[in-house]
Amino acid sequence: MAYFLHRAPSLLLYATRASMAPGSPALGAPASAGPVDPALIEDLVAANRILADQGVVDGYGHVSVRHPKNPERYFLSRSLAPELVTAADIMEYDLDSNPVDRRGRTMYLERFIHGEIYKARPEINAIVHSHSPAVVPFGVSNVPLRPLYHMSGFLSEGVPLFEIRDAGGMTDLLVRNPELGRALAQSLADKPVALMRGHGNVVVGSTIPLAVYRAVYTEVNARLQVQAIMLGGSITYLEPEEGRLAAANIAATIGRPWELWKRKALAREKP
Ligand SMILES: [Zn+2]
Repeated sequence: MAYFLHRAPSLLLYATRASMAPGSPALGAPASAGPVDPALIEDLVAANRILADQGVVDGYGHVSVRHPKNPERYFLSRSLAPELVTAADIMEYDLDSNPVDRRGRTMYLERFIHGEIYKARPEINAIVHSHSPAVVPFGVSNVPLRPLYHMSGFLSEGVPLFEIRDAGGMTDLLVRNPELGRALAQSLADKPVALMRGHGNVVVGSTIPLAVYRAVYTEVNARLQVQAIMLGGSITYLEPEEGRLAAANIAATIGRPWELWKRKALAREKP
């Protein structure tokens, strides 16, 4: 039995090699799920630039979208500052975060964040990972990040913390392998946002605009919460029920900020 378990992968690779045509992707690479509507890739490019415009990402951070025709594939830029991303930089991955057609391109070390969350959350189609600065203190403090206005009602579901030491001991804090990606997905559980201690956060949504909206307003809420704390006195946060009602209402109207953000982001020349 052990022999077969050991041999099976190489037999599989041999079969793949035998059926490969010249010019095919690299040996053992996952198959593409096929082309998608260019509008989806345009939205992904726009998302990269919007997140930079809104101060969520800087030279680091990334955003992905699941392949609409195959839930086992997703799209993510090659390793590049988000503000510089164009359609030509978008790569397709399987959920183990292997590239379909690498062509020598450098990949984000932390792409496992995306693949492992897509595995764990079938209803999620877009993921933002950032080091958005106002949120970072809440990942290292025992003061919880809580929604204080209607725009961030989605935070009322609670914001879990990913403690990388529990999963990986001493690390460089980066989610650089599938095991750490799985542990992060477990910490996120069924929530829209998770803090990553000493690092940043991850935000998910059913669509690109929703994930971007949540990433932007997670950052804004963190900034406002620090200001409210600095005022002194007690703070009245949203009740969970208020948060749910506000989130449901806003989800129906995010097309409005999204169109504005997208138009500005795509109209501007790249730096
Ligand atoms: Zn990171």
